[in-house]
Amino acid sequence: MLQTIKKIGVLTSGGDAPGMNAAIRSVVRTCAFHDIKCYGIYRGYEGMIEGDFVEMDARSVKGIINKGGTMLKSARSTKFRTKEGRIKAHEQLLKAGIDAFVVIGGDGSFTGAMIFNQEFNFPVMGIPGTIDNDIYGTSHTLGYDTALNTVVDAIDKIRDTASSHNRLFFVEVMGRDVGHIALNVGIAGGAEEILIPEEDLGLDRLVESLRRSKKSGKSSSIVVVAEGDKIGKSVFELKDYVDQNMEDYDVRVSVLGHMQRGGSPSCFDRVLASRMGVKAIESLITGKSNYMVGIKNDVMELTPFDQAVKGKSKINMELLRVSDIMTI
Ligand code: ATP
Repeated sequence: MLQTIKKIGVLTSGGDAPGMNAAIRSVVRTCAFHDIKCYGIYRGYEGMIEGDFVEMDARSVKGIINKGGTMLKSARSTKFRTKEGRIKAHEQLLKAGIDAFVVIGGDGSFTGAMIFNQEFNFPVMGIPGTIDNDIYGTSHTLGYDTALNTVVDAIDKIRDTASSHNRLFFVEVMGRDVGHIALNVGIAGGAEEILIPEEDLGLDRLVESLRRSKKSGKSSSIVVVAEGDKIGKSVFELKDYVDQNMEDYDVRVSVLGHMQRGGSPSCFDRVLASRMGVKAIESLITGKSNYMVGIKNDVMELTPFDQAVKGKSKINMELLRVSDIMTI
């Protein structure tokens, strides 16, 4: 027999991402639509442990669809990594009468939810919110599309300076494990080279490629570097290497950092967040638990948490080839 769910909690956990507010709004309004009470849980699992809950209705989430960050705040909770912490969190949920929760976050947040589900047989559902797009089971995570547009905009501006001064810029973008951001913004921003975690270009080939583009008449260059690029050098070390091996270049570095995470979510992220919230709540209502909501070929799909956490999100190899051709 299906357990009837009457109160659902929603939290944002791990790093913030544009579109989290739109997902909270969707969760709250879908609950209201189905006559289910909804509670916002502040500061991720930390707030769950402390019982920092607020009842939300359809009007509590007005005016947030266009806002970056998360109105519920986010946190990393070391206490939730311990059994004692999770027991406390469970007690707080029971005390408030919450009988399921939706966590909006990354794979760490899903691991926490999965363990919680195993320990207390508590219904949980995940919505992937992280700009890196590094989660298996969805072609897009919340915030990824917005981050792409933010970074391309920044690269366009850097290009203005690069071409005015005949400079070479190394632009570091987010992406410790996967090169989705670097690869896409590299193509969209007309980068001469793109360094990603999946492929080791090698320092010599990089210098050779820059020499070639200079010879072909290019007076400025942009090299996009993912944080976790496989050459294993920081952008500053790359600059030093090029400085030493190519005297004729004026090399600069730009680390985009946290600005990539901020800003108003794109139309795509707002729509995706709205769809994910509906799917998460309606899946919980029909008795499903321990899944992450994702999108594949424009269809909403569920991926079991253990697969979402263990699986690896892969870059599109065709994009590598497109990039090679574009930089001729
Ligand atoms: P991001 O992609 O932004 O890093 P994330 O969800 O992966 O997001 P984490 O800091 O890894 O971010 O995880 C968020 C929270 O999830 C942690 O602070 C912790 O409370 C909980 N968590 C992560 N891993 C575990 C685990 N193995 N056991 C219990 N809880 C966990």
